[in-house]
Amino acid sequence: MNYSNYTRREIIRQTGLALVAMALPYPLAAFSKFNKMTDNKYFDAIIIGGSYAGLSAGMALGRALRNVLIIDSGKPCNIQTPHSHNFITQDGEKPNVIAEKAKTQVLKYDTVKFHNDIAISGEKTENGFLIQTQTGEEFTTQKLLFATGVKDLFPAINGFSECWGISVIHCPYCHGYEVKNERTGILANGNIAFHYAKLIRNWTKDLTIFSNGKSTLTQEQTDKINAHDIPIIEKEIAHLKHENGNVQQIIFKDNTSFDLKAIYSRPDFEQHCKIPEMLGCELTEQGLIKVDMFQKTSVTYVFACGDNASPMRSVANAVSTGSLAGAMLNNEMIEEEF
Ligand SMILES: Cc1cc2nc3c(=O)[nH]c(=O)nc-3n(C[C@H](O)[C@H](O)[C@H](O)COP(=O)(O)OP(=O)(O)OC[C@H]3O[C@@H](n4cnc5c(N)ncnc54)[C@H](O)[C@@H]3O)c2cc1C
Repeated sequence: MNYSNYTRREIIRQTGLALVAMALPYPLAAFSKFNKMTDNKYFDAIIIGGSYAGLSAGMALGRALRNVLIIDSGKPCNIQTPHSHNFITQDGEKPNVIAEKAKTQVLKYDTVKFHNDIAISGEKTENGFLIQTQTGEEFTTQKLLFATGVKDLFPAINGFSECWGISVIHCPYCHGYEVKNERTGILANGNIAFHYAKLIRNWTKDLTIFSNGKSTLTQEQTDKINAHDIPIIEKEIAHLKHENGNVQQIIFKDNTSFDLKAIYSRPDFEQHCKIPEMLGCELTEQGLIKVDMFQKTSVTYVFACGDNASPMRSVANAVSTGSLAGAMLNNEMIEEEF
């Protein structure tokens, strides 16, 4: 190396830095690499989805000194609900406040980077995976974790989507207490209606099932529901009358109406992100990503957590499975490295 063009101070600075880098257990180059997003496109783990599950996994991985990228498109499924319940320490808090607080805590770790974007494709490479985003960024990683949630598919009933998460609710543990003893509808048919009738009766006895067309409940289910004085209305629904998402009436196609304060409904859903399927991850019959007890999918080096892989939709479950997935992903790396 020719030092003639360097000042004495510059030589001391450069060699000093090199020595420090050699003394560190983890190469300094690797840390400086991912401090600058534009320079670094390679990560130990990429987490797609940066809501409760993804942030929880990010915290476990960031604290395990893994260089992690979280890519998030900012569309959590509970975006419309005014208050989130049943998550200890945050009961009644606004959903985005919980997520922002989590994000602030996770991003305190300089091992974790956050990128606002939509991951649009993923492919297996020789050393891991390549992820491409909508804005044209490309990132590579050894391991992938999907915390992408699910997308609810609303029925074609005017007013339903406006009331979703406000007065049309999916889960009594999340919102049942707030509408206890109120005049309540179950907008469902068949087994889902039967399951809801049993469950919701715990929170209110003023219950009516709206099957929105011919009931598909079995005779045995119908007899049980009748025995509990729960009417079944088969009339087709035209729309929901509401004020700022607070339902007031169900309006039927025959122009009659039914007053009520809350409706339980479990709309169909699909995976929010199609990349797990592109990579060959198996889905369950319900359309969830199949994972084992360590949150590993059917594809090697690919993990999933939160709503996309669990029928138990709650913030607590998303945080729990995210934390588990982060630890298990790190554990896989530790086993490979040791
Ligand atoms: C209306 C409603 C009200 C609810 N109320 C409560 C409640 O009171 N209490 C409770 O405990 N639970 C509640 N839940 C359930 C709870 O919100 C979910 O269980 C929780 O949000 C799941 O967290 P998650 O991180 O798995 O998914 P989500 O919170 O849905 O987040 C998924 C994230 O992944 C991102 N993403 C998806 N695809 C991509 C992609 N391709 N690229 C980049 N980013 C992507 C999305 O933008 C989103 O930010 C409610 C759910 C709903 C629908």
